[in-house]
Amino acid sequence: MTPLLHLRDVTAFYGPVQALFGVTLNLAEGEVLALMGRNGMGKTTTIATVLRLLAHSGGEVRFAGVDLHAMPSHRVARLGIGLVPEGRRCFGPLSVAENLTVAARPGPWDMARICALFPRLQDRMAQPAKTLSGGEQQMLAIGRALMTNPRLLVLDEATEGLAPIVRQEIWAGVRHLRAAGQSILVVDKSLAELAAIADRAVILERGATVWSGNFADLTPQIANRYLGV
Ligand code: ATP
Repeated sequence: MTPLLHLRDVTAFYGPVQALFGVTLNLAEGEVLALMGRNGMGKTTTIATVLRLLAHSGGEVRFAGVDLHAMPSHRVARLGIGLVPEGRRCFGPLSVAENLTVAARPGPWDMARICALFPRLQDRMAQPAKTLSGGEQQMLAIGRALMTNPRLLVLDEATEGLAPIVRQEIWAGVRHLRAAGQSILVVDKSLAELAAIADRAVILERGATVWSGNFADLTPQIANRYLGV
């Protein structure tokens, strides 16, 4: 079956500096795939090539069978990829409700479902996004991406900088999404949390895929070698 997302031997540069040296990954429809690796190994850059925020120079990037090589980023979003970027980036002056509605596209995800997923947002609908806590902003960023009714949700640093209790709320939301059959590509630092939520993992080292497989096969030796844990 054609994977929903397929990257093969992807290379990419920031100007003259090569950042990706051969990223290969496949994500099936309905799957949760963890993209892992130490700091600076190319996770965010890989996501940038998928969203066409950065063009790849070699290899192949396909979404639902469509070659993304020449596609501008606004068209990729319309193909059905919803990004929750590192650092969240909500529209600060806009209210929670406005942040959600500007993103809305037809589909099963609407404001009511997002409030059921993250009840904290319900009470803050009229509040400017910039006045939310970090965890609430992350919930809003996920909600906003879901409002586009994406076929693939991409979560970059899903719980970075959040208090443990808030992280658990985010992971509970992701678990719900997974149970609802949402395809997700997720980056996070916490191996234990990813192992509990993801079907499979891909590990990057210096801009290249060095390991991929089921979490059951991710031995402490592999985790130690590539993730330093
Ligand atoms: P982190 O976990 O720290 O976010 P990462 O795995 O997401 O790391 P990237 O941010 O993709 O890693 O960085 C991969 C490499 O590309 C690093 O060497 C980084 O310094 C470099 N890089 C990232 N962004 C740029 C940029 N805008 N210009 C030049 N080099 C960059």
